[in-house]
Amino acid sequence: MTSRTLFLIGALTFSLFLLSFADKNKTLQPKATIKTLIIDPGHGGIDPGARGSFSNEADVALSVSLKFGKALQQEFPDLKIIYTRTTDVMPGNKPTKDQGLRYRADLANSSNGDLFIAIHCNAAPDIHHRELIGYKKATVMVGKGKKRRKVTKKVPQYRHWNTPNPANGTETYIWAVNKNDIKVNSVNKTEYYGEIDSTDTDVSSNIELPDPSDPLEKARMLIYAQQYFRKSLNLADIVEKGFQAQGRTYRGGVKQRNDKGIWVLQATGMPSILVEIGFVSNPEEEKYINSDRGQQEIVDNLVNSFRTYKEKLESKTIGTQ
Ligand SMILES: [Zn+2]
Repeated sequence: MTSRTLFLIGALTFSLFLLSFADKNKTLQPKATIKTLIIDPGHGGIDPGARGSFSNEADVALSVSLKFGKALQQEFPDLKIIYTRTTDVMPGNKPTKDQGLRYRADLANSSNGDLFIAIHCNAAPDIHHRELIGYKKATVMVGKGKKRRKVTKKVPQYRHWNTPNPANGTETYIWAVNKNDIKVNSVNKTEYYGEIDSTDTDVSSNIELPDPSDPLEKARMLIYAQQYFRKSLNLADIVEKGFQAQGRTYRGGVKQRNDKGIWVLQATGMPSILVEIGFVSNPEEEKYINSDRGQQEIVDNLVNSFRTYKEKLESKTIGTQ
């Protein structure tokens, strides 16, 4: 073979490589809209969540979730909304919290959700106080053996009481970034391969499901998990800024959490956030998050945030890079 032929073969191979790469990128484009939203009211049934003085987290989360879904449906009639529960039960009527969490994630994944929003209420422990109110005389035994004797001593007397923790405001969580690796295993198969357009025969034929044990597939799926992370962070930020604009107490912006409570966020193969709409342990805020006005304001912010996020997504200003 001449060097010229070799060069041509090389150039051709390289072009084919580029072509196949371009094609992969095309089929890997995530769908840039939200067709199915999962709304997950936290806790329920056997698990009331945090308790306030007259209400509990499970009930408040459910009420706000249902109002949020209803308001969204009015503005977006084509949006498919799936609730993990609509009554005071553990989702799927599961007997334990863990099984309930698994059910929430499985439902979201099997419904091909494009976005997952969990609604919770926060709580902080009561603050304990102690005050010296005087001394009481008490007879106690001291010493050992022959030296053992009775003495009278003054024993301080305290009054103990608790007051509600003043912590208040909202918090919006996403999963910890070091859990992207786990999120990989829940990457939504449909999103991974993009929307299958029936007019594009190249794409709709030969669909293979990704195999996470293949390092190359895993690397590609990790890119998706990272995109979910960016999208989730973006939405969480919009939600928190919205609450701030409504005058709610700012608690430091979007937070990453890495505990059991938000396991569901990394188990769902889609962007996902958890919104703590206020502290049920704070007397003022407990009243607010139970009131019609308070719930309406929270719902308004969630709807506005959803709209902003959806528009950004559709104009491709977030997500892909
Ligand atoms: Zn909770």
